[in-house]
Amino acid sequence: MAFCTLPASAARAAGPGFIERWLETFSTTSLYLLCAAVIGLLVLAGSVWALLRANRRLLRLLAERRRDAAIMRSTMENMAEAVIMVDGKQRLASFNQRFAEITGFDQEFLLGQPPFADVLRLWAGENALSERVLERAMARARDGKAFRHTFVHHGRDYEGKHVPLPGGGFVRTISDVTEQHRAGEVLRNSEERLRRVLALAPTAIVVSDARDGQVLFVNPKAEEMAGVGAEQLLGGSSADFFLLDEDRVRVLQLLNQHGAVNDLEVCLLRASGEPLWALLSAMPGEFGGRPAVITAISDITARRRIEEELEQARQELEQANQQMRRANAELAQAASTDRLTGLANRRRLEEGAEAEMARARRHLDPLSVVLFDIDWFKMVNDRHGHEAGDAVLREVAQRLGARVRASDLLARWGGEEFLLLASATGLAEALVLAEKMRRLIEGEPFPGVGSLTASFGVAEFKPGENFSTLTARADRALYRAKEGGRNRVEWAAEDEIVGG
Ligand code: GH3
Ligand code: MG
Ligand code: MG
Repeated sequence: MAFCTLPASAARAAGPGFIERWLETFSTTSLYLLCAAVIGLLVLAGSVWALLRANRRLLRLLAERRRDAAIMRSTMENMAEAVIMVDGKQRLASFNQRFAEITGFDQEFLLGQPPFADVLRLWAGENALSERVLERAMARARDGKAFRHTFVHHGRDYEGKHVPLPGGGFVRTISDVTEQHRAGEVLRNSEERLRRVLALAPTAIVVSDARDGQVLFVNPKAEEMAGVGAEQLLGGSSADFFLLDEDRVRVLQLLNQHGAVNDLEVCLLRASGEPLWALLSAMPGEFGGRPAVITAISDITARRRIEEELEQARQELEQANQQMRRANAELAQAASTDRLTGLANRRRLEEGAEAEMARARRHLDPLSVVLFDIDWFKMVNDRHGHEAGDAVLREVAQRLGARVRASDLLARWGGEEFLLLASATGLAEALVLAEKMRRLIEGEPFPGVGSLTASFGVAEFKPGENFSTLTARADRALYRAKEGGRNRVEWAAEDEIVGG
């Protein structure tokens, strides 16, 4: 150690030649010693630095652990469940206030970190559990497996959860599930009541899941209607009940838009494949804790069949009625029409005349008749044959019938005589009308026969007379027309003596 203990005063006294002298005395051994001292100093400094670092880490870890423990403590205390932690040595390492509350165990006892076996023993004593039950509980706590169980303590329901910890020991939580169980019980009871009511319902009831249509419940009436037992219907799809998909879609639409379906007529399907006509009502509800659709179905197949039969019968009746009306109309037409000419016959004329005379009397309207007879008609038959005579009669009817007013009635009076009932027509007007008719006959030859003429007798209705006196007066006038040389028009005076 001589090199390091050279006093400064000596060095100063040595003067400028000192370093050189000192180096001369510096041996190899001294060099080694110097190096060793430097290395030693470095190692020492490194160790001190490493120690300081380790210390800092330790302090940080300690702080983190303290924080974690505080968080855990606060979490445990704020939990609704009772919690305990049992360490690897099966001692009670930690517990929350709720655990002390539920068990009613002495805080001093719990804070003393007693063996978990002692805690269990105390619990068994409090709850009068048998030795066998206690043994089983201890074995379960030891065997390192998670489990969950329910138990009753002081009249309340609890659920215990046991979760083993990785390094041994376990966490145990205890939840009060009394209210949950009661709610479940109430639900089960109300559902049971609902099932019983629905089972007795006289209508078929199907309850299905609102989300996927899964059938959750059917009552006996629904089984009867479908023609299969509940075991085949439950779990199936409510869509399978519908014969027509459009009905199913309509039900869903109504449920979505109006929240319910009321007496919708649908066609369903029995298991046998037969259609089933039904009135369907549905509303949303809850069943077994699931959103559900409760559907009531009334079978109206029989009613529908009767309605269809009634409708068919109604249609057949309607057809029969139409046929009858047609036949009646034809009959009435035949009964009032002259078959050869198609004009009104004498019967129809008399009916029409009665109505016209009544109207004339009521309104003091004029009314006239024009009676005419084809001249020398016998000769037509004789020369050209009866058929040709018939053709002439038809032609006369057509030629004059096309020109009379709709309010007038042209009829075949008999043989080759015709009568026109001219409503709202006075004598003067009737004479003009007769003259026109005369000209129509005379004016154009009849095919295959040649020119023909007719004689006319005109009479105006006078209040107080009847149709027969009116026509008798017209006949008188006609007679005069024949007498006067035919192809002419004559009129009857009001006071024309009839039958004279
Ligand atoms: P007049 O100028 O005096 O009336 O002479 P007429 O020959 O027309 O009179 P008459 O009364 O002598 O003859 C009428 C004839 O009309 C007699 C009858 O055979 C004929 N006759 C009546 N009804 C029909 C019929 O439906 N068809 C045909 N073809 N002839 C008929
Ligand atoms: Mg005649
Ligand atoms: Mg004649």
